[in-house]
Amino acid sequence: MMHDFVRIGSYVWPYRRLFVLSVICASIVSAFWALNLSIAFPVVKVLFQNDSLHDYVENEIALLETAIRVDTAALDSIPEDQVKERAKLQYRASERSRNLLMLTKVRRSVLPYVPKDKFDAMALILCVLLAATFLKGLFIYYQEMLVGSVVQLTVNSIRQDCFRSALRLDYQSLNRIGTSALMSRMTNDIEQMTAAIRVFGVTLVREPLKAGACTLLAFYVNWRLTMLAITVVPLLGLVFNLFGKRLRRASHRTMESMARIYECISETFGSARVVIAFSGFRKHRKQFLKANRDYYAGSMKIVRLGALVRPISEIMGVVAVFAALAPGAYLVLRNTDSILGIKLASETMSIAELTTLYALLAGTLDPVRKLSGIFEQVKRGMAGSERVFDLIDERSIVPEPKSPRMMIRHSSMISLQDISFRYEGTEAEENQRPLALKGVSLNVRFGEAIAIVGGNGSGKSTLLSLLPRFMDPHEGRVLIDGVDIRELRTHDLRSQMGLVTQDTLLFNDTIFENIRYGNPSATREMVLDAANQAQAAGFIRQLPNGFDTVIGDKGGKLSGGQRQRIALARAILRDPAILILDEATSAVDSQSEEVIHTVLKEFSKNRTVFIISHVLNRTFLDLVTRIVVMDQGRIVATGTHEELMRSCDAYRALNQPQLIIRDAA
Ligand code: ADP
Ligand code: MG
Repeated sequence: MMHDFVRIGSYVWPYRRLFVLSVICASIVSAFWALNLSIAFPVVKVLFQNDSLHDYVENEIALLETAIRVDTAALDSIPEDQVKERAKLQYRASERSRNLLMLTKVRRSVLPYVPKDKFDAMALILCVLLAATFLKGLFIYYQEMLVGSVVQLTVNSIRQDCFRSALRLDYQSLNRIGTSALMSRMTNDIEQMTAAIRVFGVTLVREPLKAGACTLLAFYVNWRLTMLAITVVPLLGLVFNLFGKRLRRASHRTMESMARIYECISETFGSARVVIAFSGFRKHRKQFLKANRDYYAGSMKIVRLGALVRPISEIMGVVAVFAALAPGAYLVLRNTDSILGIKLASETMSIAELTTLYALLAGTLDPVRKLSGIFEQVKRGMAGSERVFDLIDERSIVPEPKSPRMMIRHSSMISLQDISFRYEGTEAEENQRPLALKGVSLNVRFGEAIAIVGGNGSGKSTLLSLLPRFMDPHEGRVLIDGVDIRELRTHDLRSQMGLVTQDTLLFNDTIFENIRYGNPSATREMVLDAANQAQAAGFIRQLPNGFDTVIGDKGGKLSGGQRQRIALARAILRDPAILILDEATSAVDSQSEEVIHTVLKEFSKNRTVFIISHVLNRTFLDLVTRIVVMDQGRIVATGTHEELMRSCDAYRALNQPQLIIRDAA
């Protein structure tokens, strides 16, 4: 909690000037607030006590002067050795002379402007009140504007950091967190946080200042009674603390269920085609209902706690005022200065003083009420910021090397040495997942085109994911030209690779930009050439806007084969030293696929190529130099097609029927 405050503080720091200005505005506002309330004093004087302000001041001054004279005389008559008595008297005298000083000042600088007529005086007071309220309003406006801009700037940079840190994460961590949770962090949680920082900057700064100003003045009017009222404050703190803990827990849970709502929405509508085809509406409706219900339950808990905070704090506030008011009333109405022998006022209190004290204490109460109202919001925001900062603190499990080695374009050998790999399970899974790769070793010379074949789940995709370091193997290492890839900057490493995966991922942009993603500095000619090689140019030209056609969310306006060809063009444009194709042509029609294979044969010169494919037709076999057969996370055989057909049962079983059909055709 405290830690998160400091974190937010570090984001606010660059805008500290604006913030300080806003605090100054808040101080001015609270000064006006206390001033407006203490106007009760002259009002009561004018309205209920029959002397005018002038008379009152003159009277008081005369009274004080006599009292001080009496005091000094008394002081002289007390013998030197009665120290305690003398000190008491001296204190009283000094208190009186302070009052006297203030009153003479008032007489000199305020009274000349105060009309003698009572109504005129009242009218003047009201005018002052109006002017003060206007000024207070002006500074409230400035404070909120200043805080508003600080908050927006702060939250902007937090959101930016959130996005950047998510981008730096490795593939596995991103998968574990999930897109929906990321979305919920960067929208909902940050929204809660924004609201909290705003009330923090506005209310949490201004209201305590207001309360403070009032308490200060109340102390001045009668510090003993004010002390009585303040005794309730620690109790109030205790109650808030208790509520705070429960609120924060409830907020955490609620925001988790908000993430589940996001998940449900994105899953349902992200797979709209399946949902519609299988009429899965009921299932999704149920899921959504559950997520929604969870959210409701959590929210209601927060609402209940929040609803309780306010009345409780109000009651306690009234108790506090009572603690001061009841004895105060006793003093005034019984015309005394002590209760049960305990001295509670330096002089007998006047009705005007009591009213002012009451007004000021009520003025302390109002900020407390407002503070308790925002309490829930701040707690929610803190819970949100905890989650946001957790994301910002999330570190990639594929770390960058501290002192990276220079990478020169790959030109001799890629070797995988004794590699074992296991996918991280979620915390809910009790047993560890089985190894996805078990002791895999493979040496590939520069210029080879390696086919990797094997049944579903045999570990082909996993093996090739290690090359661009989507994840690191748990045992063993990957060397490129003799250098462990963990010693290379991931950016350098990946800049040498062209990758087309099973699920072709395109952006909602033009075809041209999607291809150029592989090499942002490519010219239009280079893009067209890459599209030609990937057998994509033909269908692209037939589109209404050609290369400038926008292809929809995830390339939704194109067929699967078309998407794959664009993804292939993107990889070709990158001019990679290492080309990785993971079932990259699985959706392309067989004629185009054969053409792509011939093109790739040309393209694969002076590169190392890895191809996962299920279709081993003649053009494909012509393209690859060696075939690696995988089964259950192991490499069971390597060799040419002829060798494997002779020696490897698994290979024969894998592709024979297909080959026969293809050969016949
Ligand atoms: P192939 O590409 O040969 O079909 P994969 O390499 O994708 O197989 O998968 C190998 C094994 O690893 C499978 O048993 C699969 O269940 C598991 N696996 C693949 N991807 C993940 C993942 N992201 N998280 C957990 N397990 C995975
Ligand atoms: Mg695969």
